[in-house]
Amino acid sequence: MTKAAVIGLGTMGPGIAATLARAGIAVTAFDASADQREKAPLGFDLAGRVLESLGVAVTAGGSTCIADSLEDCVAGADLVIENVSEKLDVKRAVFTAITGFVADDAIIASDTSGIPITEIQAGMKNPGRIIGMHWSNPPHIIPMIEVIAGTETAKATVDWMTAFVRRIGHLPVIIKKDVPGFVENRVLYSVMRECVDLVEQGVIDPVDLDTCVSWGIGYKLSVVGPMALLDMAGLDIYRAVGSYLNKELCDRSDVAAYVTERVDRGRLGMKSGGGIFDYTPEQIAALRDERARKLVAVRKALEA
Ligand code: NAD
Repeated sequence: MTKAAVIGLGTMGPGIAATLARAGIAVTAFDASADQREKAPLGFDLAGRVLESLGVAVTAGGSTCIADSLEDCVAGADLVIENVSEKLDVKRAVFTAITGFVADDAIIASDTSGIPITEIQAGMKNPGRIIGMHWSNPPHIIPMIEVIAGTETAKATVDWMTAFVRRIGHLPVIIKKDVPGFVENRVLYSVMRECVDLVEQGVIDPVDLDTCVSWGIGYKLSVVGPMALLDMAGLDIYRAVGSYLNKELCDRSDVAAYVTERVDRGRLGMKSGGGIFDYTPEQIAALRDERARKLVAVRKALEA
């Protein structure tokens, strides 16, 4: 595998392209937006510098370049990674176009956060080579990648992708059933739902909620995963606490007004200058740097 194409250069694409290039792969990238295509080289450089500070080895032969069309981007690619907007119709249109341009055995992966791969591959040419490759943001720093087979994905594609994720220095986890949200986002969204509910009910302020989770369970979970934590705490304790607590936990199926009202007012978070907290442009730049630096330091400590 020497040539890969990355489609979509928003939040995820540039870090993915930089990771592949550092692993010795010639990467061609494309975004439908000319503005995103123009900004992408800066994103490649920023991610490359973080990979450097992580101490990730450079494999010879890697490169990044931008193509002006989807067809030019995927021409001759052995692997295509799709990172376009999280909408099934947009993804299916992109997949239909890609399958028209690549070789029959080229692997085509979607970085969807949780749309079942079965729905993306349905009716596509050679669906056995279509697979989920769910990176975590920032993709060049967080090593875990979910590998998801749709009902028509060939086992050989899963095996190939698992080996490929290892080759680029990341950690593959195999998702055995193509459930919406896969595993990472099912866990994250169950945590987020409870956090939003606790803040909305006035149980805790947002700043203290973040301290509680980051310095309590978050810090611990990066060293001891939930299944190992059950053994560490004792299954009898989990049964005793779960028997009165599980029924108290938030189980709403809609999204809390705490979030929807902010979205309706244009308070989308850092990208709009404010969401739950407020940010100046200087604070946003400083936070991005600080978070990347801390994630690099924590990863190095965990790998030591
Ligand atoms: P984004 O909105 O930042 O970027 C998407 C990019 O796709 C945009 O630049 C847009 O111009 C481009 N695009 C849209 N339609 C296109 C088309 N037809 N052809 C080419 N380019 C097109 O989104 P993102 O956060 O980078 O997410 C991309 C994918 O990765 C989504 O499926 C998302 O769910 C998934 N993902 C996101 C994160 C995250 O934290 N942001 C994490 C993991 C996975």
